[in-house]
Amino acid sequence: SAKAAGSNQWAFFKQQMTERAAVRLRTEASLHDALKNNEFVLHYQPKLDINTGKVVACEALIRWQKDGRLISPMSFIPVAEETGIIIPIGRWVIEQACKTIKEWQKKYNFALPIAVNVASQQFEDPSLVPDIKQLSLRYQIRPELLEIEITETSLMNDIEKAIVKLEQLKSAGFGIAVDDFGTGYSSLSYLRHLPITTMKIDRCFVTDLPQESAIASTILMLGKQLKLNIVAEGIENQEQLDWLKANDCQMGQGFFFSKPLSQHDFEEKYIKPHTATISQI
Ligand code: C2E
Ligand code: MG
Ligand code: MG
Ligand code: MG
Repeated sequence: SAKAAGSNQWAFFKQQMTERAAVRLRTEASLHDALKNNEFVLHYQPKLDINTGKVVACEALIRWQKDGRLISPMSFIPVAEETGIIIPIGRWVIEQACKTIKEWQKKYNFALPIAVNVASQQFEDPSLVPDIKQLSLRYQIRPELLEIEITETSLMNDIEKAIVKLEQLKSAGFGIAVDDFGTGYSSLSYLRHLPITTMKIDRCFVTDLPQESAIASTILMLGKQLKLNIVAEGIENQEQLDWLKANDCQMGQGFFFSKPLSQHDFEEKYIKPHTATISQI
């Protein structure tokens, strides 16, 4: 009967829900353990000044070291966001970035800005701003050395609240970048009011340069009008770089320059050589 079929479906649905909830719980528990057992690491990818070719900043990107393998953030950040554990993970990321900034200054006398990615839910957490301020004070780092990357989509969830929060961060001196720009639904009229310092052109608009350049040039024009720094993400070849240079894009990031590197490798390649040139002067 229809009733029996319905109740069968319900039982099946319930079983599926229970399994999904169980998987979520297991993943949440293992992310919790990962945090406790120090299994997360930050890799760093340089951001270059396109005109001079100099490394002017970097982005911290999280990885999970699990059983000798490195797990990509794409496979655990969404679960972390779903379960809320992104809040302590995100806080760990910010603290680790502050430590690294301090370390590079102490060990190499070199101040390089680090950008950290902040998830939607983390951005909405009321303790985000006080946490960031407290950490930068504890590690005695200048706020302009810490940059927050937030996706366009996160900002548009509650634009009025976002503006208030960004205002607090910006007035405290932290850098603010809109990540993956062009992939969300920004209201262009609001963009003017967003207290941001940087726009990152999403990789998907860089990939097809120079053949398909309509969106990239529009974002570059917009950035110029709004007096924002523009970073092009995902530069993989000379042709893309040439186009970006010819079109006044100031900064770039991508495998063409470097993949994200472990802290050790990043230091060897980008921090130590800098120390050497300073001491030769
Ligand atoms: P994202 O913030 O947009 O970071 C850029 C991603 O593009 C990184 O992937 C980077 O390795 C990759 N990438 C850079 N240059 C190139 C290139 O030339 N070609 C290609 N194909 N890819 C390039 P990754 O490290 O796997 O991170 C993926 C995403 O995971 C990030 O995108 C960000 O949304 C998220 N994520 C990473 N670390 C964190 C974190 O600490 N917290 C949060 N909430 N999210 C993070
Ligand atoms: Mg980013
Ligand atoms: Mg991005
Ligand atoms: Mg992204």
